[in-house]
Amino acid sequence: ALILVSGANGYIAVWVVRLLLERGFRVRGTVRSESKVPYLLQYFNSLGYNEDKLEVIVVPDITKEDAFDEAVKGVDGIEHTASPFHSNVDDPHEFINPAVNGTVGILKSALKYGDRVKRIIVTSSCASVLSLPLSKPTIFSEENWNTGAPKEVEEQGRAAPAMTKYRASKVLAEQAAWKFYEDHKSEIRWDLSVINPPYVFGPAIQAISSPDHLNTSLRQWYDAVYAPSPPAAERTPALLLNANAWVDVRDIAEAHVRALEKEAAGGERIIVCGGLFTWQDWINTANALPSHPSLAHPLPKGDPSLLPEEPKEREKIYLLSYDVSKAQRLLDIKYKTMEETTRDSLEYFSKKGW
Ligand code: NDP
Repeated sequence: ALILVSGANGYIAVWVVRLLLERGFRVRGTVRSESKVPYLLQYFNSLGYNEDKLEVIVVPDITKEDAFDEAVKGVDGIEHTASPFHSNVDDPHEFINPAVNGTVGILKSALKYGDRVKRIIVTSSCASVLSLPLSKPTIFSEENWNTGAPKEVEEQGRAAPAMTKYRASKVLAEQAAWKFYEDHKSEIRWDLSVINPPYVFGPAIQAISSPDHLNTSLRQWYDAVYAPSPPAAERTPALLLNANAWVDVRDIAEAHVRALEKEAAGGERIIVCGGLFTWQDWINTANALPSHPSLAHPLPKGDPSLLPEEPKEREKIYLLSYDVSKAQRLLDIKYKTMEETTRDSLEYFSKKGW
């Protein structure tokens, strides 16, 4: 079967492409400029996949209504991952337009020309689930929608924080996907499945020349857990104890492949979360590894005394959590541990000479 992967050069997407190829799928990846093509072809060629297995095509502007018309022809399934995720944005529509129009656009193209398409997976985010800030322990599930972020952006416009703009783009894109699916249910032969990841960490296989070019989530991990100063100097207690949820990039890629294969994943939004963290947890995990790859500089220590032993005290820190029973039932992922993700990420930095 041939699977279309949009934004195929991204952090999550290259792992999705790799797992698809390993499972025997053929892949058509889209990127937005010709310059992104050679790395992907070379990387996968080095793993033994030639152009019969992987083709990479250029879709320059995913906000154009017919952008994916050619790309969807002949494909059996679609993994739509392309969406802006960075922090230097002024006008919120720089996030919202590609997120929403890219998502609706690929569904529209599939409706018109995707004669063979059986399933479409959209990479949404826990950003479209959770509402912040929290004052007490809260468990979010697929029933929850982050309606606050779009409202904040509507009210504050450019003045809204960058993360709020990003979160709004993910909520609006996912809502638009479900609406399109419901509105066209009688005409389509495919179904929709949405994956909602929290923070994604773990080793990268996309083209990266320096830490400055890391994708947003891995860059945050690098800054908090490994980078030398000045970011190290910013490891304030508030930051070190900032709690959130995470999943390994290889597990989220696995979820994308399973969501394609498992019949029961159709029509579902699925939170795929491996665990909770504070940055101090990652730092402690890194320091406690039985052996370390040769690193260019020492690991930071943060402040291990910040994390209380007392369960009641700890509860006050990890306020946010997710009900992952649906992912368990439908996808049955065996999640990587903090140790595995940390070890493999440090090994990646070590190989890069960082
Ligand atoms: P990357 O930044 O590595 O990948 C993003 C991909 O989207 C790239 O291919 C990028 O292309 C493409 N893209 C970005 N902006 C545009 C645009 N305006 N028009 C067309 N394509 C664009 O990030 P991730 O791999 O982390 O993100 C992939 C998906 O996963 C996104 O949908 C993101 O929202 C979602 N996600 C990520 C999480 C994380 O922690 N990493 C958590 C939850 C969800 P180019 O390289 O040309 O910019």
